[in-house]
Amino acid sequence: MQEQHTKRKKAKLLVYGCQMNRSDAERMEGQLQEIGYEATEDMSEADLILINTCCVRETAEDRVYGKIGEIKHLKERNPQLIFGITGCMAQKEGEKLIQRAPHIDFVLGTNRVHELTRIVEEIEAEHTPHVEVGVAETELPALNAPVARESKLTAWVPIMYGCNNFCTYCIVPHVRGRERSRSMEDILQEVEGVVAEGCQEVTLLGQNVNSYGNGSEESFAELLRQVDQVEGIRRVRFMTSHPKDLSDEVIEAIRDGEHICEHIHLPVQYGSDAILKRMNRKYTVDSYRALVKRIRAAIPEVSLTTDLIVGFPGETEEDFSAMLDFLREIRYDSAYTFIYSKRSGTPAATMENQVEDSVKHERLTRLMEVQNEISREINETLKGRIMEILVEGPSKNDEATWTGRTRTNKMVLFPHKGEQAGDFIQVKITQPQTWVLKGEQV
Ligand code: SF4
Repeated sequence: MQEQHTKRKKAKLLVYGCQMNRSDAERMEGQLQEIGYEATEDMSEADLILINTCCVRETAEDRVYGKIGEIKHLKERNPQLIFGITGCMAQKEGEKLIQRAPHIDFVLGTNRVHELTRIVEEIEAEHTPHVEVGVAETELPALNAPVARESKLTAWVPIMYGCNNFCTYCIVPHVRGRERSRSMEDILQEVEGVVAEGCQEVTLLGQNVNSYGNGSEESFAELLRQVDQVEGIRRVRFMTSHPKDLSDEVIEAIRDGEHICEHIHLPVQYGSDAILKRMNRKYTVDSYRALVKRIRAAIPEVSLTTDLIVGFPGETEEDFSAMLDFLREIRYDSAYTFIYSKRSGTPAATMENQVEDSVKHERLTRLMEVQNEISREINETLKGRIMEILVEGPSKNDEATWTGRTRTNKMVLFPHKGEQAGDFIQVKITQPQTWVLKGEQV
């Protein structure tokens, strides 16, 4: 009997999507711990299952529906199981999710993350379905929620929520609402807290970090400067940067900041003006090119990465060829490449001249071939170089080989000789490859 009272409830969180979703999930996990749940890897023994969803691509949504179906059997076996959907799909679909799958107990929108504890406790008491999706434009979700961080070495710190840009292919502004920035004081307090707990690297997160503080006196450049000076911090990263908002002041802050890493993820999305215009990206190939020039002049060691979409509506062979030329000219360290996927509710979904699937796939292959070759050539130039890495731990497939990251965000594999996760070590790059560098400690 005694054992029954002390037995802790178990929760399983399934997380899809971007870093922002993973960061939100850390704040959900923290809240669940506070009301007596501990994490489990095994869904079949969970008392609570939460899916933090992503709806950026249709495939991500399909996977979530597959999981929702799987969980129905668990719920049939254990009617006391609490099952909730959170994240972007929850925000977008709301009540429709429960109509489609009545075994869902609650649906919680992206701006209501901090209300998880209350909702779970209410369901524990009454077991009636809840749907809470409202987008309160002024609300900053999850700020004061406790955080159960995924990593002890590096921490994500959200600095803003939402997006004002309305790129025509993107669902984010529709599900995460307009931009809202946290106060600098609040962010610095969180950064100081994680550094005091032993994290040496923080990543400042937002859909468009460069417009941090919009409408107030607080700017992203100033935030970078302040975070750089937090006592004990070793590395500062940030993502994502919209090219139209990356100011010279931010470039100077990166150049001057001792701990600000020389890596900028600068999604270009496409390499032709006609497509950029239809995407509503609000910059041109020329202005982007000039920006890259300014960045490289100020920070010669910088690594640049990007996102690219192939098969956007109306894409012609000429557009695509211009994109390949642009890649060869800019020479990114690496790129995340995506096939355009229609998102209902976005303008691009109803644009004319949607590109055939077979053409999209064929272009994606060609695009990746070009980018992979560039990545390999750039990495080749690092052969023999000595670089500082933050040691992360054993690699996935081989306990004897450990991984770490350079300031420029390149992964290095090296033979383990007693280093600890969290150590900063110097490695000599011996075998550069397309996606990783191999090296050894010096
Ligand atoms: S900047 Fe564009 S792509 Fe990025 S989140 Fe906002 S609307 Fe989406």
